[in-house]
Amino acid sequence: MSVLVAGGAGYIGSHAVRQLIAAGHAPVVVDSLFRGHRQAVPDGVPFYQHDLTETDALAKLMRQHAIECVIHFAALTYVGESVQQPLLYYANNTAGSISLLRAMQAAGIKRLVFSSTAATYGEPDETPITETCRQRPTNPYGWSKWMVERVLQDQAAADPEFAAVALRYFNVAGCAADGSLGEDHTPETHLIPSILLAALGREKKLTIFGDDYPTPDGTCVRDYIHVDDLCAAHLVAMEALEPGRLEAYNLGIGRGYSVREVFDAAEAVVGRKIPVDAGPRRPGDPAVLYADSTKIQRALGWSPRYTDIESIIATAWSWFQAHPNGYGN
Ligand code: UDP
Repeated sequence: MSVLVAGGAGYIGSHAVRQLIAAGHAPVVVDSLFRGHRQAVPDGVPFYQHDLTETDALAKLMRQHAIECVIHFAALTYVGESVQQPLLYYANNTAGSISLLRAMQAAGIKRLVFSSTAATYGEPDETPITETCRQRPTNPYGWSKWMVERVLQDQAAADPEFAAVALRYFNVAGCAADGSLGEDHTPETHLIPSILLAALGREKKLTIFGDDYPTPDGTCVRDYIHVDDLCAAHLVAMEALEPGRLEAYNLGIGRGYSVREVFDAAEAVVGRKIPVDAGPRRPGDPAVLYADSTKIQRALGWSPRYTDIESIIATAWSWFQAHPNGYGN
């Protein structure tokens, strides 16, 4: 299938492009390179540098490549940044997605796999979180994605041929097992890469954002899913798209790790102590998020291959050891 991968030069998008090729699909990448890396896109894959707001240019390349499905990863994903710069998030994530949808409509494309997030649930009423839990985001990042889910529902109701799936990611982590693709963000704020960069001496001393949460060790609990497992779910979800509806699936491993547990696991992987201090909470962070992913397991037969945090961190460590300067190497 000819698949447009929006955000295909980013961390998750680049892993998805590799899997699409391996599965016999023909990916075409569009990326603004605002936070993506041209080097992450394999040679031979058509690449276009566009912002999602360039509706006409997107529609043109969709027609030119006879695109059949769009997988949409292009988004800003930092909770803290979204609290400080909400307009940036609504412009990129919400307005950008609407522009992409309008380009799809202009080009007659009816199939979309959308990267949503556990942040659409906010502070959940119960854990593990199922897809029917109330969605009530606690930060602009979550709202920016929630709004797109709402738009997709309405579009699926309006157009019986429009088929979309929203994959609600929990915390995506790890890298290609061979260390050849990875995570390279500036700034890096995510927990696991920050810890590994600190282990390499490339990051200042780290802070645990809050150790007074109502959790066993007082630090936030998250569900870390390996990027390759996450991307595999996109491929099966793409194959199963059903016209006239928006389906939603959680993607996590179904088990939570506290920030301190992540530090312990990372120290075991790198074989040394990583200095850290506890500091204040980060605004917008819920205490506990972990997934019930049985819906996608039952409906589509997907299941994660990486089910413990150490093995996930070990793949990220391969990347950071081989590429301490990221794609700048
Ligand atoms: N976190 C932390 N220190 C850091 C980075 C993250 O304590 O330097 C915590 C953060 O508060 C959250 C968890 O680690 O509870 C995962 O954060 P991350 O930014 O990786 O992902 P998010 O949950 O925001 O998607």
